[in-house]
Amino acid sequence: MLYLGCHLSSSKGNLDMVKTASKIGANTFAFFTRNPRGSKAKPLDVVDCTRAMAELERQKFGTLVAHGSYTMNLCTKDPEARQFAAQVLLEDLQRMEAMPGQYYNFHPGSHVNQGIETGISQIVDALKPAMEQEYPVTVLLESMAGKGSEVGATFEQLRQIIDGVGSKNMGVCLDTCHIWDGGYNIAEDLDGVVAEFDRVIGLDRLKAMHLNDSKNPLGSHKDRHECIGKGFLGLETFQKIVNHPKLKGIPMILETPNELPGYQAEIDLLRSLERN
Ligand code: FE
Ligand code: FE
Ligand code: ZN
Repeated sequence: MLYLGCHLSSSKGNLDMVKTASKIGANTFAFFTRNPRGSKAKPLDVVDCTRAMAELERQKFGTLVAHGSYTMNLCTKDPEARQFAAQVLLEDLQRMEAMPGQYYNFHPGSHVNQGIETGISQIVDALKPAMEQEYPVTVLLESMAGKGSEVGATFEQLRQIIDGVGSKNMGVCLDTCHIWDGGYNIAEDLDGVVAEFDRVIGLDRLKAMHLNDSKNPLGSHKDRHECIGKGFLGLETFQKIVNHPKLKGIPMILETPNELPGYQAEIDLLRSLERN
């Protein structure tokens, strides 16, 4: 089954997002747990979440991929700000209890001149106690482009965080633009990159993908998303991705520069590339 969707938002809540998703041909989606560029979270509407869950079940959606705030940096230098970020993470996971079984994905963080090893250990320090609460959510580290001092631009770094935390409820969300910008050549050697992921992290940890083309060439560390087929990855790469036997059943989320009609068109396009 091909599970495709995009980022959605709604002032009316989660049930409304499920309806919007199905209108545009999506059978999964992503949503921000709070303002993506701030730290405020709306009070949780448990009734809405329960209705949304029932509708997801009825329409046979794939797993949803919630996204943490961009401003949540678990390895920021200032200890007080770091503590605050860890608190935001804990609250987000708590809130996911109303949507049990879904994914929560976030950017590991930026170490801002502290060095990659310090960054990784600070991320582990924040994640470990949060994961010990065993909220009914699988937490995904997003693979990053390596822009600035981003942590998580190599499979080895992601593996180090996963090992440090030591929880079975952690996985990875592979962002196609990010790994391309990070130097993984999925355009010419998708099989090789998938095998490399399996060797370093293990494919059982690959839980979700972000499908984005890239405005920049391989290894550019820029992180500028492009519409599907319009960038350096090209349509053929996405054709290989949606048909790859080892990527089957994984929710794939578009984060391309689009409004709803553009997303609908890209979902249609990707479905048309699927060989049955
Ligand atoms: Fe992201
Ligand atoms: Fe992404
Ligand atoms: Zn990105």
